[in-house]
Amino acid sequence: MAAPNCVFCKIVAGKIPCLRVYEDPSVLAFLDIGPLAEGHLLVIPKDHAERLEDMPTDILAHLVRQLPPLARAVLKVTATDSYNLLQNNGKTSGQEVPHVHFHIIPRKAADGLGYRWLASSYPAGRGEEIRRQLVAALA
Ligand code: 5GP
Ligand code: ZN
Repeated sequence: MAAPNCVFCKIVAGKIPCLRVYEDPSVLAFLDIGPLAEGHLLVIPKDHAERLEDMPTDILAHLVRQLPPLARAVLKVTATDSYNLLQNNGKTSGQEVPHVHFHIIPRKAADGLGYRWLASSYPAGRGEEIRRQLVAALA
């Protein structure tokens, strides 16, 4: 199902052009219009879902199965051996387009993109408490 005013639903419907790389009945992959690097791909479900956890799991599983061949094609064409897979959910995470999408971003040495990984650590007992809450939330 398409959502009105969703830019990626409009791309799926062909109402907004894109540079299509792959499609099948439920998945579309196309070049990001604002690439972080040449070959930066977006991989989306054709049916609208805002966030990963909103997606039917069979469609999600099918989409994820398409990622390795797409990543291999990106690596081959961009002549590198590295990429980031990025999937944002929610505004605070950086999600600008509220239609699930996976970024495949090829990386090269000295590409200047950098990587913010501001690792911290748990104070004594806090990791155990968070683990307890997560396990309870899964029940
Ligand atoms: P987000 O920040 O939501 O994870 O990423 C959204 C991505 O969609 C951005 O990288 C942006 O460049 C891309 N994008 C937004 N609008 C369009 C569009 O109309 N066409 C294409 N090809 N990409 C788009
Ligand atoms: Zn949509």
